[in-house]
Amino acid sequence: RGKSKQRGLICQYHREMDDSARSRRAMARDLQHAAERGELELHYQLQTTLADGKICGAEALMRWRHPKRGMISPAEFIPLAEETEAIIEMGEWALRTACRDAAAGKIPGTIAVNLSPVQFKNDNLAETIHAILIETGLSPRRLEVEVTESTIMSDQTHGLHILRKLKAMGISIAMDDFGTGYSSLATLHAFPFDKLKLDQSFVKRLPGDAAAAAIVRTVLALGDSLGMPVLAEGIETDAQWQFLSEAGCAKGQGYLFAKPVSLALLPAAIDAAARFVRDEPSMPETVR
Ligand code: C2E
Ligand code: MG
Ligand code: MG
Ligand code: MG
Repeated sequence: RGKSKQRGLICQYHREMDDSARSRRAMARDLQHAAERGELELHYQLQTTLADGKICGAEALMRWRHPKRGMISPAEFIPLAEETEAIIEMGEWALRTACRDAAAGKIPGTIAVNLSPVQFKNDNLAETIHAILIETGLSPRRLEVEVTESTIMSDQTHGLHILRKLKAMGISIAMDDFGTGYSSLATLHAFPFDKLKLDQSFVKRLPGDAAAAAIVRTVLALGDSLGMPVLAEGIETDAQWQFLSEAGCAKGQGYLFAKPVSLALLPAAIDAAARFVRDEPSMPETVR
């Protein structure tokens, strides 16, 4: 009896595996057509200068509105799109859409777009981005690309070659999720990033966790001495904002200031974020 129950469980397990493999394949197939069917959306999350609470830019974050499954998170579909290389076309769509929206004056300041390591397999990535800037009329000074360590680590020479081309065009390069990789320091040494995005895993432990606070201060000192300003991700509370601002962190992004929203809702998010604008704290007497 026990055995047959066990066998039943195993059968069920196999069935579920089959189901999930099948559903992954179905999702991968749907993903190939998502862009051309207009199912992809970009949401924008505002970025803020921490000293004065003013908006300085926005990050473009991809969303997939699946006709049957509804809104699917990028954490779920980006890895799949990377496996099938559908991300190459989707990433191009994201760049074009973000640049067009920014050039139309709908996004304040710098527009940051995430690049997948898989997009770097395309030797023409820099040329593609150049063409998108020409097509949309966006100044390269307003475009920032976000890369993670894996982008550079998979093929150092090639990755650096493309990043140098982008930099020469006037585009700025941010290292995303800083602190989560395994060779951050080597990567930092290999490439002059314009910005470090401090991963939210540290930010969410502020201000109470002494170890997280020490790590954050160290990253800020590192950024400072390398001339790379730091943007803290995932700021959710006033106390986190205050800690980071006092510790000298230049910029921030998080639910406190704004959640990622569709382009249609961005003006309302910008209005709502105005309540964070404040006078820069004056320097203490001793420093003056
Ligand atoms: P990421 O680039 O590190 O983006 C930050 C993520 O943190 C976003 O998740 C954002 O919604 C979330 N976030 C922002 N503020 C807060 C906060 O205060 N609290 C919390 N808990 N979360 C916050 P999202 O939109 O789900 O994106 C997840 C990841 O998917 C991104 O991480 C990025 O790696 C990837 N991704 C999104 N869009 C694209 C894209 O167009 N291309 C590529 N290659 N990857 C993308
Ligand atoms: Mg990012
Ligand atoms: Mg990040
Ligand atoms: Mg992330």
